[in-house]
Amino acid sequence: MTRDAPDPASGPAPSPASDPASSDSESDPIGRALAGARSVPLWLDVPDRPAPRPGLVGDLTVDLAVVGGGLTGLWVALLAAEAEPGRRVVLLEGASLGWAASGRNGGFCSASLTHGLGNGMARWPGEMPALQRMGAENLDAIEDTIARHGIDCGFRRSGELLVAVQPWQLHDLTELAAASRRLGRPAELLSAEETRALVDSPTYLGGLHEPDGTALVDPARLVWGLAAAAAGAGVEIHEGTRVTAMRDEGGRVRLLTPSGTVLARRVVLGTSAFPSPLRRLRPFVVPVWDHVLATEPLTADQRSALGWKSGEGVADAGNQFHYYRLTDDDRLVWGGYDALYYFGSDLGARRARRPATERLLAEHLFATFPQLAGVRISHAWAGAIDTCSRFTAFWGRGLGGKVAAVQGFTGLGVGASRFGALVALDLADGRETERTRLRMVRTKPVPFPPEPLRWAAIEVTRRSIARADAAGGRRNAWLRTLDRLGLGFDS
Ligand SMILES: Cc1cc2nc3c(=O)[nH]c(=O)nc-3n(C[C@H](O)[C@H](O)[C@H](O)COP(=O)(O)OP(=O)(O)OC[C@H]3O[C@@H](n4cnc5c(N)ncnc54)[C@H](O)[C@@H]3O)c2cc1C
Repeated sequence: MTRDAPDPASGPAPSPASDPASSDSESDPIGRALAGARSVPLWLDVPDRPAPRPGLVGDLTVDLAVVGGGLTGLWVALLAAEAEPGRRVVLLEGASLGWAASGRNGGFCSASLTHGLGNGMARWPGEMPALQRMGAENLDAIEDTIARHGIDCGFRRSGELLVAVQPWQLHDLTELAAASRRLGRPAELLSAEETRALVDSPTYLGGLHEPDGTALVDPARLVWGLAAAAAGAGVEIHEGTRVTAMRDEGGRVRLLTPSGTVLARRVVLGTSAFPSPLRRLRPFVVPVWDHVLATEPLTADQRSALGWKSGEGVADAGNQFHYYRLTDDDRLVWGGYDALYYFGSDLGARRARRPATERLLAEHLFATFPQLAGVRISHAWAGAIDTCSRFTAFWGRGLGGKVAAVQGFTGLGVGASRFGALVALDLADGRETERTRLRMVRTKPVPFPPEPLRWAAIEVTRRSIARADAAGGRRNAWLRTLDRLGLGFDS
């Protein structure tokens, strides 16, 4: 636990008493756009958000206990219940389902299991064909599950457009296009004009269009739909039930919570950026805050001024990158860029608003789309990302193999969480599969050092990345050393 101890049971961040981004100044269009933005994540700010399920009371004995009610935990529960219908499965969530990263993200549901092709090629080149295949199967299976259970979450195979907004990024896109082609993935390099014909921003210098491999989704509705499907398959779900400790009781594990205990044959942890009940995994993850804005619904004229007929998910190719998309009700959701780590792995709810970052994001939004001048930001929020030094999920085991854990998705877990869940179940059940034989699964990232070194190292890295973006992509000696060691920092 740290200063401002992260307490999952504390739930969603409260709205600040006064709006930090408000401004009266007529001469401050950015301040005006942000004034009155609501602090609750867009996806969670809906009247039909399900009421929380009751917390655990008393003691339970189960076959499988799942800790964490984000996408990872819900996939574990649903997959386990569907694979073995008689199995007694309970899911314990410390606050409410989807209140954390799973209800705060951009909703890019990617086939990539490796945080992008470049990261995968750098780490596991030999495994990439298999990882690509498994990633594509994973995305298909997500689509199939959504259809099978009738989950109304706006899942749409939108594809992705990666845009260059600095000349040096064109080179990176060319390399990425070549790597994609080598792996048999469709990816088309576009000129500035061709890119602007898809989405019209004067900042675009070129693009890489990947029609496959990315879907857009309303992530909170996906969470709630998976929860309903899991409950329908017999999973018992308790919200407001934080696991405070785990005890090995020979053939079983006892989970302690303030209101009862669960005795389980097997346990899977999907606790993301929060301190893992398996203490030895804690050094592998740091919480990194990522901020997001959403606009009010665009008018038909504003919408058509953007082009963007196919509604691709868009990201730019900077090291500090933005990701953005449209919603079903024609809002623009715009996030990324600043990736903020606070001393002591601070997860305090007050970190969910940061006026300086929100201003910067809004400035970038209106510079990218000047045709949206005057549009208001209706929502501004942030969430903690479970960042690890290799940017992809990793797995751990404990208590004699009865407990398995998966975390570390580093900002690309909407799709990969299902794969992470499958592997965690393989590990918990002691199954050897093609998945568990992957080096990606058998190895762990390099741990972060303890404080104060942790904060210092991340801060130097953050500043170096910002300098690299400002200096034509040139990486300084610190970043080159990290690259050589296969280490990094990202959101
Ligand atoms: C701002 C933001 C933008 C993002 N954008 C994208 C994107 O566009 N695409 C993408 O692929 N990924 C994105 N991500 C990452 C993605 O949201 C996650 O990787 C994904 O949702 C998987 O989440 P999870 O279930 O592992 O974690 P979470 O959703 O954080 O769930 C973990 C849960 O565990 C619970 N918990 C923790 N400890 C305990 C305990 N001791 N007892 C009981 N419960 C506990 C917490 O309360 C929490 O609900 C983004 C993340 C953020 C924050």
